Amino acid sequence: MGSLEELRKPVRYLKGIGEVRAALFNRLGIFTVEDAISYFPREYEDRSRLKKIFELRDGESCSFMGTVASEVSETTPRKGLKLYKAFVMDQTGVITATWFNQRYIKSVLRRGVSYVFYGRINRKYRIFEVLNPVFEKLDGSELKNTCRIVPVYPSTSNLTQNMIRNAISNALKLVEGKLEDALPQWVRNRYNLSEINYSIRNIHFPLSEEDFKNARYRLAFEELLLLQLGLLRIKSALEESKEGIVFGKVPEMEEFIKSLPFNLTDAQKKVFKEIEQDMESPRVMNRLVQGDVGSGKTVVAVLAMFKAVKCGYQAAIMAPTEILARQHYKTVSQLLSNYGVNCRLLVGGMTPKAKKEALEDIEKGKVDVVVGTHALIEENVRFENLGLVVTDEQHRFGVRQRAVLSQKGENVDMLVMTATPIPRTLALILYGDLDISIIDQLPPGRKPVKTYAVDESMRERINAFIRKKVREGRQVYIVCPLVEESESIEAVSVQELAERVARRDFRDLKVGLVHGKLKPKEKDKIMTEFAGGKIDILVSTTVIEVGVDVPNATVMVVENAERFGLAQLHQLRGRVGRGKEQSYCILYSSSDRQEVSERLKVMEKTNDGFEISEKDLELRGPGEFFGTRQHGIPDLKIANLYRDIEILKKAQEAAMEILERDALLAAEENLLLKKQLLKRFESRLKELSFN
Ligand code: ADP
Ligand code: MG
Repeated sequence: MGSLEELRKPVRYLKGIGEVRAALFNRLGIFTVEDAISYFPREYEDRSRLKKIFELRDGESCSFMGTVASEVSETTPRKGLKLYKAFVMDQTGVITATWFNQRYIKSVLRRGVSYVFYGRINRKYRIFEVLNPVFEKLDGSELKNTCRIVPVYPSTSNLTQNMIRNAISNALKLVEGKLEDALPQWVRNRYNLSEINYSIRNIHFPLSEEDFKNARYRLAFEELLLLQLGLLRIKSALEESKEGIVFGKVPEMEEFIKSLPFNLTDAQKKVFKEIEQDMESPRVMNRLVQGDVGSGKTVVAVLAMFKAVKCGYQAAIMAPTEILARQHYKTVSQLLSNYGVNCRLLVGGMTPKAKKEALEDIEKGKVDVVVGTHALIEENVRFENLGLVVTDEQHRFGVRQRAVLSQKGENVDMLVMTATPIPRTLALILYGDLDISIIDQLPPGRKPVKTYAVDESMRERINAFIRKKVREGRQVYIVCPLVEESESIEAVSVQELAERVARRDFRDLKVGLVHGKLKPKEKDKIMTEFAGGKIDILVSTTVIEVGVDVPNATVMVVENAERFGLAQLHQLRGRVGRGKEQSYCILYSSSDRQEVSERLKVMEKTNDGFEISEKDLELRGPGEFFGTRQHGIPDLKIANLYRDIEILKKAQEAAMEILERDALLAAEENLLLKKQLLKRFESRLKELSFN
């Protein structure tokens, strides 16, 4: 908004704000005038249309003008409740205005004077009443609370909406007309964006709905544009700053691909080609591979690691859970061992001796491919010659962990794999610093999993069905959610469920139990037994959610399915449907909330992860969608990642063109943009010495 001196004035400077009140504003993050005008409303009340009293309808909130026709009366219908009432009339009718426990009304409301009122209309029999209305005198001065679209701000106790409105209104008066526009003229022209002074005024006190829409559009555009500029800058700085490894062609590659137990799908071939090109180029690879559950991401990673190893480098793959790491280790070493590639597992649950040995061999370069968990990013892990890093199921790792692992080599290529299908536009925001490949095809012969959302009344029938499937030789997962974050409670609830399943429902079957509290060894033992077919029913928490691959398991039962997000349910369901047999997913829920049944219906209707994630995003919003903040969902003040996808696309386009014209944002017209960018992405951009 520019370098205007007034912007930096503390809120104390504003009329009506003393030390105490300033502290309250500080609590909302408002310290300066600039903060105040950048503090956007949470919602608006449309009080703009003035009605006649006879037009007022029961239940609506609206504005009307009227003259006070009586003194204010005071009654005490019960202890602690005082009612203050007055009659208000216009040419068309009379209405009673009622306030609860607001003594001051008696001294401010004057008989015979006209006011504009705004409040909720309530009809009792034939009498109309307006409850706790706000009112303003019609004396020619500006109306703040009635007769207009009124902003409602996120607040803290002790600060009323009125105080916030006044402060912002005063802050606006101070700077109005003097704000400098950060958006270059050509961008505003091309995308029809309104000017900054107009936009800021109308985001707070819109004169009409039209004005509000214009203002919001422009401010959302600006916010998303900055985000995109930041990510693009980071991405190109990453690319420019480092000379990456140039991996050569590998003659054995074709033979290796032929030796796989299956033919690659076209999608796998396409994605591996993109990876190969990255690896062979001198740019550092930063590539995200997205693919639905079961699309075969692992083998693509194996191909890339094979290439790295054959070019004389070490490769590492990091998985979020020990179960998954062990499974990857098995797959990877099976595929690679015939080709003289030395693989090693590195997880937390190893004996100190085995770990020490592994660490030494990795450092000496005796190991070509390391498969592990977070144990890989510990400080004592050193590589001889790390060239490629793969992180699996990226949504479980933070950006930082990804970075720590790649810093164990010099300018290593990086591959990030995720099974959370993210709508493409959103992926561009979350992973704006990565290139994206999508495996958009499942291996042939997969039958879609049949999914049923059920309630407790179906328990007997479903148990009979499970029994039947086990008799046919199939295996079953039963998953129950964490009741609390706490691990001990988790253990109890799964244990209880396992006991019920083992002792009561399926006494004659073999039931195994895994949860987060088990020792890795025990967990591993049970998983191995399950994979080997020695356990019929595996009861578990979501530790099996990611990646576990047991093709003979064909039934997935999820207890309390309403506690899971759709993306997570989709992950869980992805544990079945991996073989030739028809698979089933049963979602138990005892909630009769509309929203729950709507969500579970989505699961019944589609097996397409991208569709499901779009829906999840729509129903729960991006915050929920990604679970926690650490996944890097940016804090947006005004734009909404779901509703504003169209704006986002345009902002992306604009960001690219701005950088094409002026990569360092050094031109006069881009200086303000650059300043805001540095403010927003301070730490990351500094790291990359962009200033
Ligand atoms: P995800 O993408 O969920 O990580 P995986 O890599 O675990 O999927 O692969 C799922 C299963 O599909 C594995 O059993 C794997 O061996 C198998 N698979 C992978 N690619 C193919 C293919 N092209 N044809 C047949 N099966 C495949
Ligand atoms: Mg996987």
